[in-house]
This record gives sequence, structure tokens and C-alpha cells, in this order.
Amino acid sequence: MIYDKKSLKADEFINHEEIIDTLEYADKHKNDTVLLDEILAKAKPHWKDGKLDCKGLNHREASVLLATELPEYHEKIINLAKEIKQAFYGNRIVLFAPLYLSNYCVNGCLYCPYHVVNKTIPRKKLTQEEIRNEVIALQDMGHKRLAIEAGEDPKNNPIEYILESIDTIYNVHHKNGAIRRVNVNIAATSVEEYKMLKDAEIGTYILFQETYHKEGYKALHPYGPKSDYDYHTEAMDRAMDGGIDDVGLGVLFGLDKYRYEFAGLLMHAEHLEAVHGVGPHTISFPRVKPADDIDPDKFNNGIADEIFERIIACARIAVPYTGMIISTRESENVRRSALEMGISQISGGSRTSVGGYTEDVRPHDTEQFDVSDQRTLDEVVRWLMECGYIPSFCTACYRAGRTGDRFMSLCKSGQIQNCCHPNALLTLREYLDDYASKETYDIGMKMIMDELGNIPNLSVREKTKGFLESIDGGSRDFRF
Ligand code: SAM
Repeated sequence: MIYDKKSLKADEFINHEEIIDTLEYADKHKNDTVLLDEILAKAKPHWKDGKLDCKGLNHREASVLLATELPEYHEKIINLAKEIKQAFYGNRIVLFAPLYLSNYCVNGCLYCPYHVVNKTIPRKKLTQEEIRNEVIALQDMGHKRLAIEAGEDPKNNPIEYILESIDTIYNVHHKNGAIRRVNVNIAATSVEEYKMLKDAEIGTYILFQETYHKEGYKALHPYGPKSDYDYHTEAMDRAMDGGIDDVGLGVLFGLDKYRYEFAGLLMHAEHLEAVHGVGPHTISFPRVKPADDIDPDKFNNGIADEIFERIIACARIAVPYTGMIISTRESENVRRSALEMGISQISGGSRTSVGGYTEDVRPHDTEQFDVSDQRTLDEVVRWLMECGYIPSFCTACYRAGRTGDRFMSLCKSGQIQNCCHPNALLTLREYLDDYASKETYDIGMKMIMDELGNIPNLSVREKTKGFLESIDGGSRDFRF
């Protein structure tokens, strides 16, 4: 098998021999300070003619950074990741919540409590009425962006059910609430079904690879449709062929060796860029968590927080333009450092059980995994602001048609900030007026006043002030 990033065959674009070579190369050069300096210099962001120039790194270069054992280079890597994060994203953090529709599943994933032989977990699938109630609860928290989640089960969760659910979600408008972007995390499917998802106006199609190690993958997925490694790995190509511009990658860290996964993840990103002209819209960074019938220690590849943070920093350097996501699987402390290293989107107030948002007390019976960060959305919003970040509920890009390569070319040149920063302030203001506690409101209003002065373009600044006044007067949904 020969490595070819343009190939459409999983074994060729995620090529095992290339990953092994990459890891050997990284081991050989991990403490080579001349090469390390060259790699860091290549990745440094520059402003040229008012545009941001930041090349990123390929999987070999980034793997050398991840392998280095030199503490002074650990520090340089983290500082560069912070610099890139600031250059592309400023201090904005986008918020979302997962919505679990159904935990029926026919797969045998050994790490997931939804696996079909788990007889202890109660199975549940939301009706459209129950979805409406969940969405009302999420809107009442302040959410505008959801990621829907479902197990794979052609009988219980066919594509028609997913499409009907998306339609239901977009049509709930409770008080001033609205879900303006529905991202979808469902099993790998056909081009025809991806076209249907595109027509249903989804945001990002998210599918975690779980592991790029083919043999490991087969052992972890002993049966069910997901056991087909090639079909799973080639899913993003089918999604893009079906017209979905924005796709989200991820591996479940803890299942296999992290350096192997990291190289595979970057090769996948390079493949999408080479074939479709646009890399992944997002990369998620989940780690295996305890769950019903699941003990993460069984997988032997758990990683310490320090390594996890370094993976995030090296990814931020390698793919500077890609949104990076961390969920409530992680604790407040890990999320705080992950945000510094390069994460740009986080979930907040999440419940991972089917129907969990309408229960007064967090239910555990149908949960997909233990949630470490159990704070409310209001607490997360306040905490972000106390850490110096602007919580953003913005969904403007995709609604204005800034998806795929249109988004990427704006983002790669740094121009996206001309809309993102004011949009973050506008959606934060909506949140403060409609959902925030008094304490969060006060901190947020001060932040908006301070941040208005940071909008460099005077006409955008004036327009933002006008929109903020209109929000004060009760109008909603302004955007650049
Ligand atoms: N059924 C779809 C699929 O197979 O891709 C949807 C995915 S599932 C609802 C979302 C993700 O949760 C999975 O892709 C997996 O990475 C993650 N997950 C499963 N079990 C987990 C566990 N014990 N801890 C943390 N994450 C887990």
C-alpha cells in the first residue's frame, strides 16, 4: 500500500506504513533543536498586507513537535499555540450543547455504553414532542447551536427520523429562543443520505474516527455496520460528495497510542484539503470516560492531562484555521488550559442522557458518558468572561453561506475576525438580556462596553452599537 493523500481509499490516505515512518522520523529528530526551530519558525503567524499568513504544519513536522522531550520546547510549543489562537480567534469562544435523540444502537463499540449487548442500559428514543420539550429547555438555557447525537440503528433511528427531528428543532421558537445551527453526529452513511442532511440545512457533519489504527479499530468494533473501517474512514469524502461543506473530525483519545492517532488525524485533514480543497471545519478532542458497562482503564492507552494539552497545542499549530472543540467530558481545570492551548468551541450545561434536559435532576440511566464539568450554562458563560474570553452564540457564517472553502479562505487570511468579534458581542448581548443571572449580566455588559472599543473598523463599530440598541429594544438576530 502506497501513501497517497489524494487517494479515495482509506488504506492509502491513512497509510499505516506512512504513520510508522512518521513516528520513527519524529523519534529520530525529537530533540534536534535545529529542526525544531525550523518547524516552529515555519508555523509562526505573520501579518502581510493586512492579511494573516500562517502555513500550519504537515503530519511529519507536527509529529516531531509532539514527540520532543525538551522542556524548553514544550514551552515554545505552548507559546506558539497561544499566539496562533489569538491571531485567528482572538478571545472568542463559541458555545454549544449536545442533544441525544436515541441510544438505540446495533453496533458493538467496546468503549460505548450504547453497544448492542449492553442489557443494563435502558433504551430510549425521543418522540417529536419530547424533542420539542428538550429544545425548549435548551433554548431557555440560552443555547443557539446544538449537536444532535444518536446511536446507529436503521430500524429505530432511520434517516427519516433524523431529518424529522432536525425540522422539529429548527421550528421551535420559545420566547426569544431559536436554534440557529444544528450540527449532526450520526454514524457514517451514504452519499444519498448526506445529500438529505445537506438539504435539511445542517451545520457541520461530525464523525469521530475513534481510532486511525486499522487493526485496533477492528478489535474495538467487533460487529455491526461500524465494524467496516474503510466505510467509516471514507465517510467524510461521501459527506462532501453529498454537498456537505463543513465536516468535523475527531479521535477518541485513550483507545490507541496518541502519537499514532495524532499523525492519522492530520493525514485525514491533509487528505480532505487535497481532494476537496477544504480541510476539516472542526476537530474534536474527546477522551474515553467511564460509562454504564465501560471502564476506560481497560484500554491501556489513557493519557495524562499534560500530554492531552500538548496534543491540543500541536494541533492548533498544525491546523491554525480549524475550529477545535472540547466537551464536558473534561473538568473545569482541563478545559481552562485547553482553551489557552487552542480550543475555540466548548459545550456547556450538557446532559448526555436521552431526554436529560427536561429532568430537574441530572439523570444517569441513559447517559453516554460521565460529565466532568457539571456547571450550568450561566456558570460556564460567567467563568469564560472571568477568564477573559467572550462567550459567543454566533451562527452567522453558515447562515450567510460562509461555509467550506468560502469560510476557509476568509479564515486563513484572518478576515473572519471582521465579523466574528462583533457577532460574538451581539449574541452575548442577546444571551445576557434573555437568560443570564444578575451577576453574569453585570460582568457581560461591562465586557461588551470594553470590547466595543476593540472593533477597529469605525463603521462596523457604529453599526454594532446600533444593533446593540435594537437588541435592548427587544429585536433579535443581528449579524455581520
Ligand atoms: N453513533 C454515532 C457514531 O457511531 O459515530 C454517533 C456517535 S456517539 C453518540 C458520539 C461519540 O461519543 C462517539 O463517536 C464516541 O467517540 C464517543 N463516545 C462513545 N463512548 C464514549 C465514552 N465511554 N467516553 C467518551 N466518549 C465516548
